Amino acid sequence: MFENLSERLSGVFDRLTKQGALSEEDVKTALREVRVALLEADVSLPVARDFVKAVQDKATGQAVTKSVTPGQQVVKIVHDELVHVLTGDEDPGKLKIDNPPAPILMVGLQGSGKTTTTAKLAKRLKERDGKRVLMASLDVNRPAAMEQLQILGVQIGVDTLPIVKGEDPVQIAKRAKTQASLGGYDVYMLDTAGRLHIDHELIAQAAAVRDVANPRETLLVVDGLTGQDAVNVATEFDDKIGVTGVVLTRMDGDGRGGAALSMRAVTGKPIRFVGLGEKMDALETFEPERISGRILGMGDIVALVEKAQETLEVEQAERMMRRFTKGQFNMNDLKMQLEQMMKMGGMEGMMSMMPGAAKMSKQMEGAGIDDKMIKRQIALIQSMTKKERANPALLQASRKKRIARGAGMEVSDLNKLLKMHRQMADMMKKMGKMGKGGMLKQAMK
Ligand code: GDP
Repeated sequence: MFENLSERLSGVFDRLTKQGALSEEDVKTALREVRVALLEADVSLPVARDFVKAVQDKATGQAVTKSVTPGQQVVKIVHDELVHVLTGDEDPGKLKIDNPPAPILMVGLQGSGKTTTTAKLAKRLKERDGKRVLMASLDVNRPAAMEQLQILGVQIGVDTLPIVKGEDPVQIAKRAKTQASLGGYDVYMLDTAGRLHIDHELIAQAAAVRDVANPRETLLVVDGLTGQDAVNVATEFDDKIGVTGVVLTRMDGDGRGGAALSMRAVTGKPIRFVGLGEKMDALETFEPERISGRILGMGDIVALVEKAQETLEVEQAERMMRRFTKGQFNMNDLKMQLEQMMKMGGMEGMMSMMPGAAKMSKQMEGAGIDDKMIKRQIALIQSMTKKERANPALLQASRKKRIARGAGMEVSDLNKLLKMHRQMADMMKKMGKMGKGGMLKQAMK
């Protein structure tokens, strides 16, 4: 998958990374080529445009590290942006299937790979999650489709609901529900009828089934080879029936890949799985990092830049620590620390990473700091002027009133913050005197 796009992009970036210095014009030219490559891959125009703009903005504002070339840095930015447009769900492979029996509704056009995907998913649920699964075909107009599911069921060792002639889809869905409850199944999957195009009857039928089954997941299966059409189909299905995720099939083919890149940005719906062949185990969860890696094919450069960025961060942290141990710890520093804490999963996350930090943790608690408070503390600091942040000693009564009001809080809140700041500044100074092996130095390793 993505061969053409991948080839085009690697051409652009090969040239870029070989150059030592990059002018703004070089980057612009490269990004123009990226845009064309995306459009040729059938990525929707607004998505391609936003993509290039995001890369351009980031490339301009980026701190440059010595150890990598600007071209390499652009590759990393493009990689991150690819991950960003591809990311729709934190854990795409995790289906909501608690409270058994959990119904999963499968919808999509005829020929999209819906029945195959139903069986692939059932197999996955059975083998990876140890679930007991029941599959039911609701395609009453095509007996062959019902039989197909049955045959696949036998092949993968998953039960199918016995076929009863003359029932309508809603009756089948009800019977599947009863059977799933009585039979102690964890999940039951409803493979709805597809048609060649979205029409009133298709939607009405899927909606009627949805209303009786009340599915935990409604997965739309679309053919990845159809590019932007796949995205249009997804938009329409979501409007009319509501879907919780998309499965893109035929991603093993030489499709241009645009559907994968546009899907989340256009429909707001996450791609959960991709189909990579006709075999029953040719289904993968959709992992943006891995897919981005496949598209760019420049994993080495991405890793190199990541490493350089880490080094840069460590250097910055070390510089900061040297200042702190000299007693230079102002409100900007405190703000940065608080923001860092939020990033690292709040107080608990941070404290668990710092050996011997229990004491500091207690002190912060004493000063009224918990995770909810951190945001309020940051708001208070934001309400200070530049000068006040650099020199908190300036904060007398009238300034305090202004700052507290600006952040929608009381002066007493601000006083707590100031007290904490003083305590932290003192502590850092003391720890600096502890010399080598001091707590902060250890914590930074
Ligand atoms: P449905 O009409 O939507 O139920 O489509 P089917 O499940 O019957 O699939 C139609 C055809 O596409 C079958 O021949 C499948 O084997 C094939 N197919 C389904 N998924 C994939 C896939 O991810 N890759 C490839 N190459 N073929 C697939």
